[in-house]
Amino acid sequence: MAQLDVQQKLEILADAAKYDASCASSGSVKRTSRGGKGVGSTDGGMGICHAYAPDGRCISLLKILLTNSCIFDCHYCINRKSSNVRRARFTAQEVVQLTLAFYKRNYIEGLFLSSGIIGSSDYTMEQIVEVARSLREDHDFRGYIHLKTIPDADPEIVHRAGLHADRVSINVELPTAAGLTRLAPEKSGARIEAAMGDTKTAILDREDAKTRYRSAPGFAPAGQSTQMIVGADAATDGDIVTRAAGLYDRFNLRRVYYSAFSPIPDASAVLPLQRPPLMREHRLYQSDWLMRFYGYAPKEVAAATDATTGMLPLDIDPKLAWALKFRETFPVDINRAPRELLLRVPGLGVKAVDAIVTARRWRRLRLADVARLTVSVAKVRPFLIAEDWRPVALADAADLRPVVAKKTDQLELFAA
Ligand code: SF4
Repeated sequence: MAQLDVQQKLEILADAAKYDASCASSGSVKRTSRGGKGVGSTDGGMGICHAYAPDGRCISLLKILLTNSCIFDCHYCINRKSSNVRRARFTAQEVVQLTLAFYKRNYIEGLFLSSGIIGSSDYTMEQIVEVARSLREDHDFRGYIHLKTIPDADPEIVHRAGLHADRVSINVELPTAAGLTRLAPEKSGARIEAAMGDTKTAILDREDAKTRYRSAPGFAPAGQSTQMIVGADAATDGDIVTRAAGLYDRFNLRRVYYSAFSPIPDASAVLPLQRPPLMREHRLYQSDWLMRFYGYAPKEVAAATDATTGMLPLDIDPKLAWALKFRETFPVDINRAPRELLLRVPGLGVKAVDAIVTARRWRRLRLADVARLTVSVAKVRPFLIAEDWRPVALADAADLRPVVAKKTDQLELFAA
């Protein structure tokens, strides 16, 4: 490897990290260096990689790889062994110093660190952990740290990552076992899931210990997450939704990230030539929200997919697709319906539904009241009954779709 200075390494290793989508932070503990103690905090600032937490907060992270060299040869990865890219490698201390320097210049609020595998999984994981350890213990760094962990590494080393990081993540990579075998033959779905299970246990143990001893050591207070690549294999949206739901259930994940496969230079012949539409990734995130915040069972979201292709429609959001498919559920009376049914009305978000539930305690709501809570009342009214509104002339789903699907960009699922 040619001798590179830190700036040159940064250019290569920040660019190489951009393919990983799983760096939004949420749910971490609040730490601050106000008062002159320590360095960094988990809130405030501006930076390099902007990630959005589920609560809408924008955070900035230094998002880099320790190295883009790798002994594995995953077909979809630009850093795979057989890829013809310029390689670089940071030492652990270089990453520590970069993080501190960027933080002190107010460029970042934290660090997202991943790596190709150099030497062995254990050695690489040791280096990743050393960055976090040094930041926390040598420099009292109180900013956010997200570490990507390596499932093949010794569980004891992986465990140490959780002692220093706010969040740890392990990528499941592909939605199906067949996809993983075909595109990442050196990876093992069983080992990935075992590592996620260990992390879940450690997080639960830590939460339990914290209830009994205030001084119990922390462990990944922002939980664990994972990422799936979309469009590199034959998995349908139905497959992906089902897989994500299983992962949330079994491993208490904070987030599943969906990353639309992007063709890479010098790509392997087993990969598709074109990336999937970015809208597909967006629709999967929306379906994820339906399961996490809107009370939809995975099989209900899967039911919104096209029966032939198993794919979610791209021109309308999955909540609207579900509503059009299950017209018998509507119209919903906003003055009587339970909250969980109101959440099914396309165009009504959680905040709007909660406002409706509160307001109707005092008076019967009219269509104008709903209009104040949604982006487009024209899109909402075919699905609801109000004090002064009943959609008597409603056509069937086939006729309704062009009406409500118009200007889909503006019909945001969570807009209200
Ligand atoms: S192990 Fe990670 S870095 Fe290495 S080729 Fe596979 S996806 Fe890329």
